[in-house]
Amino acid sequence: MDLRWSTDEEQFRTEVRAWLGEQLAAWRARHPEGIRSGDTAEGFEQHLDWERTLFEDRWAVVSWPEAYGGRDASLWQWLIFEEEYYAAGGPQRVTQNGIFLLAPSIFEFGTQEQQDHILPRMAAGQDLWCQGWSEPNAGSDLAGLKSRATKVDGGWRLNGQKTWTTRGAFCTHLFGLFRTEPDSERHKGLSYLLVPLDLDGITVRGFARLDGDEGFAEVFFEDAFVPDELAYGTPVLGGEGTGWSVAMATTSSERGLTLRSPGRFMAAADRLVELWKERGRPARLRDRVIEAWMKAEAYRVQTLQTVTNTVEGRPAGAETSLVKIWWSELDVELHEVALDLLGTDAELEGPWSKGWQFALSGPIYAGTNEVQRNIAAERVLGLPRR
Ligand SMILES: Cc1cc2nc3c(=O)[nH]c(=O)nc-3n(C[C@H](O)[C@H](O)[C@H](O)COP(=O)(O)OP(=O)(O)OC[C@H]3O[C@@H](n4cnc5c(N)ncnc54)[C@H](O)[C@@H]3O)c2cc1C
Repeated sequence: MDLRWSTDEEQFRTEVRAWLGEQLAAWRARHPEGIRSGDTAEGFEQHLDWERTLFEDRWAVVSWPEAYGGRDASLWQWLIFEEEYYAAGGPQRVTQNGIFLLAPSIFEFGTQEQQDHILPRMAAGQDLWCQGWSEPNAGSDLAGLKSRATKVDGGWRLNGQKTWTTRGAFCTHLFGLFRTEPDSERHKGLSYLLVPLDLDGITVRGFARLDGDEGFAEVFFEDAFVPDELAYGTPVLGGEGTGWSVAMATTSSERGLTLRSPGRFMAAADRLVELWKERGRPARLRDRVIEAWMKAEAYRVQTLQTVTNTVEGRPAGAETSLVKIWWSELDVELHEVALDLLGTDAELEGPWSKGWQFALSGPIYAGTNEVQRNIAAERVLGLPRR
């Protein structure tokens, strides 16, 4: 096992670091009013400005082909990019649900037309994608979803409601799961549709999260007509009736490698150590700081194995559920220790308290941790359902 980076990789790191140092400062200077959360209307625009800066210099999607705005970087380089990005204090990626969730499935299942049209526009922040899966009565039990798409002359009629659509209020397109075979049940007869949100019959209603940011949305479909021929050809990704298997590929990205890379948590763990020093190195919290830091490092090392497996053609399956449990619980722990270090100062709004509020949702989104434990028990460990 050789854990050293090659000279090329170290050069790549130097280039990333220099670019981020310069451009992050310039972006902040362009917004003297202060950067708001990307889950607010004003903050979303500020973050889009950042996304377009990334894109202009081909840092928005480093591992994608150059033709789609990337650099053809290896997965290893992508990991380095992520480490540097978060260490430099890079902001949340408001395009993440397109770039990190939908795009891997477009690469895997999309037609050439879908890839050629959707991917470069997504990378450039021209089209903004949100995930329309959950419904008022279908969250963990996603296969119980009721939204339907009915085949009609020249297209599909959509009816139903989606909810908890992250940044849906600010997005232009939705990737959703719909029942396309009326008498089908559960995982069968679903299709994965790529839907422009400006069609007649679609209403997007934004609403606030518990932390006050207004980025969530409910999306209503009332006889909305989606034509068979869109700018990217068919709206169906991966073929009619195959929605469940395409969706499961998307969840692997959401739970596994791409949505939450270790760089994010290593940067938080390093900041936690700094905070511990700033707060007078309290001995009573030393072990918890060390433990949280070690868990972030464990995730980093484990990811090296995941990337090795992927590069060698052994993509992750159900074990992404274990990864998801790990990063989401780690995020809560890092922030809880930070709040204990801050004591009553934690009650003032600041990055740690804001981060903690969001960390609490980690065990819920991308499939709740209770459900991930069920999946790990049955499909990784082979335990009986009861
Ligand atoms: C911050 C955030 C962002 C989100 N963004 C999106 C988005 O962009 N698009 C989207 O489609 N959805 C999104 N969601 C929704 C998310 O996917 C759902 O909240 C999640 O799947 C849980 O569904 P639910 O809320 O309906 O809870 P329920 O499914 O009703 O679950 C309630 C509780 O019961 C437990 N439970 C349910 N079934 C089982 C079981 N079989 N065994 C053990 N325990 C069980 C759950 O673990 C949970 O604790 C987001 C959620 C959050 C918090």
